[in-house]
Amino acid sequence: MATPRIVILGAGYGGLMAATTLMRTLEDGEADVWLINKHDYHYMTTHLHEPAAGTAADEKVRVPLRDVLDFDRVHFRQGTVKRFDPAGRIVELEGGETIPFDYLVVALGSEPETFGIEGLREHAFAIRSLNSVRVIREHIEYMFSLYRARGEDPAYTTIVVGGAGFTGIEFVTELAERLPRLARAYDVPEEAVRLVNVEAAPTILPGFDPSLVAYAEAKLREKGIEVHTNTPIKACTPEGVVLQGDREIRAKTVVWTGGVRGNRIVEASGLEVIRGRVKVDPYLRAPGYDHVFVVGDSAVVFGEDGRPYPPTAQIAVQEGRAAALNLAAILRGTPMQPFKPNIQGTLASLGRWEGIGIVGKRRFYGLIASLLKRGSDLRYLWQLGGMPIVLKKIRYFFA
Ligand code: FAD
Repeated sequence: MATPRIVILGAGYGGLMAATTLMRTLEDGEADVWLINKHDYHYMTTHLHEPAAGTAADEKVRVPLRDVLDFDRVHFRQGTVKRFDPAGRIVELEGGETIPFDYLVVALGSEPETFGIEGLREHAFAIRSLNSVRVIREHIEYMFSLYRARGEDPAYTTIVVGGAGFTGIEFVTELAERLPRLARAYDVPEEAVRLVNVEAAPTILPGFDPSLVAYAEAKLREKGIEVHTNTPIKACTPEGVVLQGDREIRAKTVVWTGGVRGNRIVEASGLEVIRGRVKVDPYLRAPGYDHVFVVGDSAVVFGEDGRPYPPTAQIAVQEGRAAALNLAAILRGTPMQPFKPNIQGTLASLGRWEGIGIVGKRRFYGLIASLLKRGSDLRYLWQLGGMPIVLKKIRYFFA
C-alpha cells in the first residue's frame, strides 16, 4: 500500500504547529508530510506591528522554516496555493503545479475584512505579512521625508489607524514611541505629527475587561494618541479618511486593522464557510470531508456558550497540534480526540515595556504584562524548535 500523503497549506501558527507535531509524532513510513507556504520562513503575526512601526527588526518576527523543521521528514514546497479541491484531493499552486493529497490540513490564515468601506482596499495599508509591514514602515518614513519638500503639509505626517482592537492598539502604541525620533530625523516639528486611532465601537478594545480598557485609554492619552470612538470610517481616499458625518482627516498614511475574515481560497474551494471560515466538526474536520482538517483563522470553533472563539494565535497553535494528533490517530486506527481549547489568557502590548492582560483570572498591567507576553512568545518558540530557536531569538525579545 502506498504511503498516505498529508499536505499542510500554510506555515503560520496553525500549519507550522501541525507540521512540527507530525514530524515528532509519526514514525518513518507512516505518512509522507508536505508543507506548502508562500515563504520559506514563518512570521510571528502577533509581533508584526513592531517592524511595521519600525521599533523591531524583521528578524524578531521571522523564523526560517529550516530552523524548526527537518526537511528530510517534512517536504517543504515554497509556493502560493491558487486553489484546492477537497473532493478531487488536489492542490494547485500559482504556476500550474498540482499536488495530490490523501489528507489535507488547511491553515491559510485570514485576510483584512473591509466591510465594504469605500476606498479602503485601494488606499489603506494592512498589517498582514512581513512584506506588507516593510511597505508600511518605509511608506511612513518616506512621507516624513516629504513633509518639508511638500510645503510643510501636515497630511504627510498624519497617520490614521482604523480599528482599536488588539492589532490597532498594539500598533498605535508602538508607533507613538517611534514617531518623535522620526520627527527629529526628518526635521519635522513635533506639533506637525498626528497619530489618530478611529474606532466604530463605543470603546477601544471592545469586549475586553473594562479596567484594562481604562488603563489602555490612559496610556494612549499619555502617548499623545488621538482616539475617536463611536466613529465609523465612511470612506478612504488618497487624501485620508472621511468619517461618518462627513468629517475628514487628511492623512497620507492610513492603516486598517478593523477586522479579518477567512482566506478567500478556502471559500472558493467549495467548503462551507461563515465569513470565509469553516465551521469544523469536534475533531477539526470540514463538514462532509473526513480527510480535510481546518485550523487557525481558516476555522471557526464554537464554545459552550454558543459563541465563536475569536481568531487568535493561541487557538491556532492548539488546533494545529490537535489536528496533527488526530491525523496520527487515523493512520494508526486509534480514536481521535475532540478539540478542547485551553484559553490561558490574553495579553497585549502598549509599546515596548507596557502591556495589559488577563492570565487565568488575574489582571496584569504595565511592565509585568509586557514581560508575561514576552514569556508566552518564548514559550511558543520553545514549542516550535526547542532551545536552539529560543537562544537565536531571545535577544530580540529583550532589546
Ligand atoms: P497565519 O499565522 O496568518 O498563517 C497563515 C500562513 O499561510 C502564512 O504563513 C501565509 O503566508 C500562508 N498563506 C496564506 N495564503 C497562502 C497561499 N495562497 N499560499 C501559500 N501560503 C499562504 N493573536 C493572539 O493570540 N495574540 C496576539 O497578541 C495577537 N496579536 C496580533 C497582532 C497582529 C498585528 C495581527 C495581524 C494578529 C494578531 N493576532 C494575535 C491574531 C493571530 O496572529 C492569528 O489569529 C494567527 O496568526 C492565526 O494563525 P493561522 O495559522 O491561522 O494563520
